[in-house]
Amino acid sequence: MRSQAMFFQEQAAQKACDPQMQKTLAYVRPLFVGKRKKGLEGLAADGLGFEEMRVACQEIRDRVVDNLDVWLELFEARAQATGAKVLWARDGDEVARLLVDLARQHGVRKVVKSKSMLSEEADLNTAFAAAGIESIETDLGEYIIQLAGETPSHIIAPAVHKTKEEVADLFVAHHGLPRQSDITALAREARGVLRQHFLSADMGVSGANFLVAETGSAALVTNEGNGRMVTTLPRLHVVIAGIEKIIPNLQDLATLMRLLPRSATGQSISNYVSVLTARGGLALDSPVQGPEKIVFVLVDNGRADLLGGEFASMLRCIRCGACMNHCPVYTAIGGHAYGWVYPGPMGSVLTPLYTSLKTAQDLPQATTGCNQCGAVCPVGIPLPELMRALRRRTFEEGLRPWLERLGYKVWAWAACHPRFYHWGVRRAVRYLKWLAGGEAFIRVLGMAPGWTGGRDLKAPPGRSFQELWADRKNRG
Ligand code: SF4
Repeated sequence: MRSQAMFFQEQAAQKACDPQMQKTLAYVRPLFVGKRKKGLEGLAADGLGFEEMRVACQEIRDRVVDNLDVWLELFEARAQATGAKVLWARDGDEVARLLVDLARQHGVRKVVKSKSMLSEEADLNTAFAAAGIESIETDLGEYIIQLAGETPSHIIAPAVHKTKEEVADLFVAHHGLPRQSDITALAREARGVLRQHFLSADMGVSGANFLVAETGSAALVTNEGNGRMVTTLPRLHVVIAGIEKIIPNLQDLATLMRLLPRSATGQSISNYVSVLTARGGLALDSPVQGPEKIVFVLVDNGRADLLGGEFASMLRCIRCGACMNHCPVYTAIGGHAYGWVYPGPMGSVLTPLYTSLKTAQDLPQATTGCNQCGAVCPVGIPLPELMRALRRRTFEEGLRPWLERLGYKVWAWAACHPRFYHWGVRRAVRYLKWLAGGEAFIRVLGMAPGWTGGRDLKAPPGRSFQELWADRKNRG
């Protein structure tokens, strides 16, 4: 997917004024935040603390990320031993090329897909369409946005921005069936249409929440039955997964499953947790069900560059979405404004790293520094610190406007010279008080009108904090 992150400011401004988007976001934030809270209460009822589980999950992810080459080789060997094929892709284009080649080699005419953010990175549907291969998204949210020709706005609820009336219109236009206005009826209609695709597809494409090195398996965590249909009905199953998705063993999967669904949807466990392994030496007519062949495509697409560096902790991410559900910026503008596959705080770190810091430089600026994202992340990723590090990089690489860079330089110099700094602050607060003209708020900040474009600035008391503090100390 081509990044549109360079239009972040315009997109964010537009979404912040979009009444439909605002209505959706007002509904989404309390919903997800409340569900996660309830989920963690359930964890506590099991006698487990969030912090201790978070440390355990972080330790599992770090164990892999710190020695990724070793774990990848182990996974490859174990997967091959079960009869699976393992392929490697450097970037999204290579993923698309490999999957189209696989489809052609196996005479595939129709592909069914379950939700995969990597498929969005590789723009897989466009590649299949260009090769004359029909590809159908089967996760309900993904199916809706495929019909609408849009991209996901949330990593676990891709069509959260769509109203049921919009979905009903899409279904009438694409299914040619009588219009339904009830959500259950709409879901039933989609199920009926998708069932025909499951039964006639030759190839299933899924992502993987985790790749289990010990068994050479993919672990899939879903809430709709489509994941199991995609991975078992077609004769060929292709798993596409980032190289960082490895975990050592099934015990670690159980530990991570304590926090993944709770952080994502508040569930103690998702409706379906599947561990998919190739059929090994089993005869094709054995009672074991599943595809004739499994192919794993392990994808780099920028991940290896993070290893051993200051952004390596980002590779711990288990794509739960909790950071965006709690983010005051995401919940004010929604996912599309971020312009690439991953929205919210995790996208503000991943998009500049996986695409280009130059074109995505506004994303890590869009943070209040409140650390809500860092506080809820189930694998302890210090998201605010990573965003700050990216901001430092944009400054060091001279990507920000010259006036902003000059401002930071002056500020840095002043901060290192306390006498000058205090003198400057004293002058500034007196000026701001004068600007308020006796009012409690400043309506327009003359030299930086953007600050007061959407809100008023509280007028300072006319004396700096240091002056007030010194007064208080003198008064004893
Ligand atoms: S950064 Fe943390 S909270 Fe955000 S999606 Fe990844 S694991 Fe979840």
